[in-house]
Amino acid sequence: MTKKILKSYAELVAKVGANVQKNQEVIINASVDQVEFVSLVVEECYKCGAKSVTVDWATPPSILKNIVKYETVETLAEVPNWKIEKIKHQINTLPARIHIMSSAPDAMKGIDQAKLAKSRMMSYPIIKPLQDELNNKYQWTIVAVPSVEWAKKVFPELPKKAAVDSLWEAILTTARVTSDPIKAWESHNKNLLDRCNYLNSLNIDYLEYKSSNGTDFRVGLMDESIWCGGGETTIGGVYFNPNMPTEECFTSPKKGVAEGKVVSTKPLSYNGELIENFYFVFKEGKVVECHAEHGEELLKQMISMDEGASYLGECALVPFESPVNQTGILFYNTLFDENAVCHFAIGRGFTDCIKDFTKYSNKEMEEMGLNQSMIHVDFMIGSSDLSIDAYTKDGKKISIFKDGTWNF
Ligand code: ZN
Repeated sequence: MTKKILKSYAELVAKVGANVQKNQEVIINASVDQVEFVSLVVEECYKCGAKSVTVDWATPPSILKNIVKYETVETLAEVPNWKIEKIKHQINTLPARIHIMSSAPDAMKGIDQAKLAKSRMMSYPIIKPLQDELNNKYQWTIVAVPSVEWAKKVFPELPKKAAVDSLWEAILTTARVTSDPIKAWESHNKNLLDRCNYLNSLNIDYLEYKSSNGTDFRVGLMDESIWCGGGETTIGGVYFNPNMPTEECFTSPKKGVAEGKVVSTKPLSYNGELIENFYFVFKEGKVVECHAEHGEELLKQMISMDEGASYLGECALVPFESPVNQTGILFYNTLFDENAVCHFAIGRGFTDCIKDFTKYSNKEMEEMGLNQSMIHVDFMIGSSDLSIDAYTKDGKKISIFKDGTWNF
């Protein structure tokens, strides 16, 4: 990859992804093998006027494995004061956050998942109220760069360097790093916004999904549900792009209103392991049956993390011919794979998918039907013959998707 293209990607991340503001603090999360690209992003953040840029290097999986192995579950769950102070500093200063993802999908393989999950459940009540205070107040973006391990997972037949180059190409194509990426994102965001505006104008009561693979499913929306897509705006009014790439128009459904069967169309990479060929059956919004040809135990563990983990938190519409799907690549990474085709997410709903959400307390939003959970896991259900019909509150049936793609 040429330095020029990487610089242009780094500029896109700082300017369009995080939209770093003058005098704002920036925190970058990245792994230690990505120093070269991280340096470029740091420089671009300063060029945007950042006051300070801190790189929070991630603990490599090889070290994390031993931490989980040797520490007691109580120690793992501890949230020491300095961590709380760190989050409080963020609540006070609202730094922009840039997550540069590069780890291999199976990097966490062999880690004691049950122990890790238990410790997270234990620390969640301490972390959650702090997280709630930060929600929707700062810009953040998730972007990717290839690591050798990840590239070899996606392109096992290629030698290391060729695999990394191929993954770079796929990342840059799907992230729209064209000759003028900033302009490309402007028009892409406009297109997504137009689609969301149309969907919001329909006043949808529920959606009906059908596909020849066995998906036959109805899901209800809240009266207050709104469709979002592309960039978002912080409560303070700063526009940013949380995901690069992004292809989806999404909303949060109403908890308790989902009936029927949804069949996965792509493997799900969860906690470093693959769950393949699975389905869920929903009744009154809750998963009452699930089966996976591979990884069924993990799937069951996932939906029993807490009460909300067996309800839906997201419905997302992505056309089958999206740039991510066109690469023909399984990225083993949700940032990309969720942007390949239509999907749902199990777990937590999005507060900003509620109209005028700043007016309501979390409890009020929960009462409207916004699901709460410590997890939010996307799974793909889009296929080339998926149809989705919207049933509106005034009794009309409108086709949204036909043959896997937009029908409006
Ligand atoms: Zn999504």
